[in-house]
Amino acid sequence: MSERTPIVVAVDGPAGSGKSSVSKAAAARLGFAFLDTGAAYRALTWFAMRRGIDVAEADAVVGAIADFDYRIDTEPGRLRVFVGETDVTKDIRDPEVSARVSAVARIPDVRLRLNELFRRLLASTDREGIVAEGRDITTVVAPDAPVRILLTAAPEVRAARRAGELDGHAAADVAAQLHARDHADLQVVDFMTAAEGVTTVDSTDLNFDETVDAVIDVIQAARPAGPPLPVPARRLRRDGRAIGTDPSRGGTDV
Ligand code: C5P
Repeated sequence: MSERTPIVVAVDGPAGSGKSSVSKAAAARLGFAFLDTGAAYRALTWFAMRRGIDVAEADAVVGAIADFDYRIDTEPGRLRVFVGETDVTKDIRDPEVSARVSAVARIPDVRLRLNELFRRLLASTDREGIVAEGRDITTVVAPDAPVRILLTAAPEVRAARRAGELDGHAAADVAAQLHARDHADLQVVDFMTAAEGVTTVDSTDLNFDETVDAVIDVIQAARPAGPPLPVPARRLRRDGRAIGTDPSRGGTDV
């Protein structure tokens, strides 16, 4: 671990705002690490379900945390999530997990424990900076981060992005699930309103690359005095790896 304090870029936003794919691509272009905090809530939900725990039973979920051996790769081009020895990278995007994750995320002890984990991960990167995305990064996990961004998009645009990415789901079903999850999550954290000092990037009328550029502009503008970070002029796809333009946007989960 380096002696420096890494630059933390906090990004919050609702489902379908593109925050995961945009944050990942921005991190890749800047040479920063990337932390998807929703993955931890999803992995804990997967773990509880696997143990046959009813996620409405807060005590049982909190009790399972003691055995929750969670690992996440913070390399932007290589998002891998493990619980123990099991690679759960794909399983945590399962609709069964998406449908239950809000119930897990509303448990105060779960949030406390995961926030401690996130702060450890943010502090331990050996990159110059780390982009962390979620729902309460700008307000709770890293309220003192030098760069804080709220990534939004109109509800119909968010739903359309998600619907366009999933096969076999009627657009109306996807929209209903997305809005239901946002509604449940909003009971816990307000990720639709920018807190003081947080810059809003509205991606409603932006394509994927334009949104990444807008986020990078905010990061550059917020940097303390000094030379700007070297940002390659090339475009990176939303997996943060490939070169070329990619008009698609948004994440892959519902
Ligand atoms: O970002 P993603 O949609 O994968 O997050 C999954 C769920 O994790 C959210 O619906 C929310 O319930 C929870 N979450 C949270 N706080 C965060 C990140 C995610 O409550 N910082």
